[in-house]
Amino acid sequence: MMNQSEKELQGILPGIWHMLVKFWPQIRKRQFLIGGSMLALLVETALGLLEPWPLKYIFDDVLLSKTTVVPEHVAFLGLSPMWLLAVLAFAIVVIAALRSVTSYLSTYGMALAAIQVLAEVRSNLYSHIQRLSLSFHQQFKSGDLITRVTYDIERLRLVTIKTALPFLANIITIVGMVGIMFWLNWELALISMAVFPLFSLTTTRIVSRIRKLAKKHRRTEGLIADTTSETLSAIKVVQALSLHEMLEQNFLHQNTKSLDEGARSLKLAAFLEGLVKVLMALILALVIWRSSLLVIQKTLTPGDVLIFVNYLKTAFEPMRQIAKQIGQIAKATASGERVIDILDYEPNVRDLPGAKVAHPFYGAVQFEQVSFGYDPNLRILKHLDLSVEPGQQIAVVGPSGSGKSTLVSLILRLYDPTEGRILIDGKDIRSYKLDSLRQQISVVMQDSVLFAVSIRENITYGRLGATDQEVERAARLANAHDFIMDLPDGYDTILGERGGSLSGGQRQRIAIARAAIRHSPIVILDEPTTGLDSASEHAVNEALNRLTRGSTTFLISHNLLAVEHADQILYLEKGNILERGTHGKLMRQAGRYAALYRLQNESNGHTGVEYVLEV
Ligand code: ADP
Repeated sequence: MMNQSEKELQGILPGIWHMLVKFWPQIRKRQFLIGGSMLALLVETALGLLEPWPLKYIFDDVLLSKTTVVPEHVAFLGLSPMWLLAVLAFAIVVIAALRSVTSYLSTYGMALAAIQVLAEVRSNLYSHIQRLSLSFHQQFKSGDLITRVTYDIERLRLVTIKTALPFLANIITIVGMVGIMFWLNWELALISMAVFPLFSLTTTRIVSRIRKLAKKHRRTEGLIADTTSETLSAIKVVQALSLHEMLEQNFLHQNTKSLDEGARSLKLAAFLEGLVKVLMALILALVIWRSSLLVIQKTLTPGDVLIFVNYLKTAFEPMRQIAKQIGQIAKATASGERVIDILDYEPNVRDLPGAKVAHPFYGAVQFEQVSFGYDPNLRILKHLDLSVEPGQQIAVVGPSGSGKSTLVSLILRLYDPTEGRILIDGKDIRSYKLDSLRQQISVVMQDSVLFAVSIRENITYGRLGATDQEVERAARLANAHDFIMDLPDGYDTILGERGGSLSGGQRQRIAIARAAIRHSPIVILDEPTTGLDSASEHAVNEALNRLTRGSTTFLISHNLLAVEHADQILYLEKGNILERGTHGKLMRQAGRYAALYRLQNESNGHTGVEYVLEV
């Protein structure tokens, strides 16, 4: 019987093994808890196997003792039948009580261990996901990752507690029963097992189909979470463009698919359960028929038949449960694989071997023959060379899509160059520990993300542990202090999701304060004033001037008036630096920059003239 059970398990055993190996460090920490619970489980199942034995002896040695059916058992334990009856009745209670205690210990111990192990796995998964490179996050949608951190871990936890332990108990029980049955009568034991090859053949196929369906189901659920989170994060656009009907259609399609997959796996599981019941009835009928014949031939005692029938009947429950549990465990294994898939991803932005904590930078930045592409076959930046002195202001201009943001993201090591290298203060940035590199670079982007915490916390995210005075100083520098003080809770105002309760200009100024509190030798500004009205732009520009004073600054801007005073202007097109130099030099060169500059100024001029004419 055990061989057959093993076969049923074949589909999921590699998955379980993989999980045990992967989570071994967390499991090992609780080895005593888990070991102790296992021991309690073993004792509990042994006691379970003992349960029908008092009844057998009551039958054979008390009830039938005066008959001639089983004369050899009369003197069992050397007790008189009445005393024996009392001892056996007492044994029934003792066995049940001991079984309850061991069951309590094993259930509670394993549940505790599972909760602890999986809480640790979840924390690891969360930290791991945060550390994975941006290229990974472009591949995996956030909804999918969220499902893995929440739903998949939760399912693993529930199944480990509610299913895995009883499953193990059931397996041990069945092995024990088979052993005892062979010991009692090998012929009957063989009959009991005859139906199992058939049983195993049918169940393995169904179980593997359930497993495949479960994986598909999880994927569709991930898609649903993606669609929902995408819609919610763009709810304004959805409403403005009246996209809801189209999105509802999409959602309906995914939802129906998920329902359908769920229903199909339920159907299979229910069918499997029914099948097991019928097969079990068949074995029971055969065993009762054969054992009764053996009693008539006096090869078995009626008590032995009792044990047999009792075992077979109690074996129904474990067998039935095993069929169900294998389905659940298969689903949990799919969840486990989804968690492990992510844990197995290595961040591809990594420190060089022997990376060191960066010293405080002077701010010299060099690009040496740097090439990069998000897709290895499509180069976005091509053999760029660049040399920036500490404290210089570098403007990066060019048509959109030319690679400006990509260029600055390489300095932050959001991605690594595919060829060439970037140096800060003469050393490859990969030789610095990633955190120590990023800590010395401040970034202000076009649409700065603020977190749904207080303004004070948002600013201290720039440098954890900054004091209130430092926060205020940074806010003053960023032209933000006054409007913050006008808010009802001042610095303790909790921002809405993504900073929704502030205007664009105010959000930018908080982002500047967050950048300022770092006192970074290198500052990156990626279109920080795009989309602001001119009053806010003025306030933000003032703040930016203060922020960048003395720091090496990379400024991306489509507004060429904003870059006139830069020490170096790079004109980028399709990933090549076509022109570089000061404003004066580029104007004299009369190339693309000069043409674009004139175009922008002329269009400004025209608007002015037209305005005057209209008036
Ligand atoms: P710019 O800042 O000059 O507008 P970007 O650096 O944002 O240009 O983009 C350069 C090119 O790289 C564009 O063709 C853009 O489509 C592509 N690109 C930008 N970000 C990604 C990304 N995360 N994955 C794949 N392609 C990207």
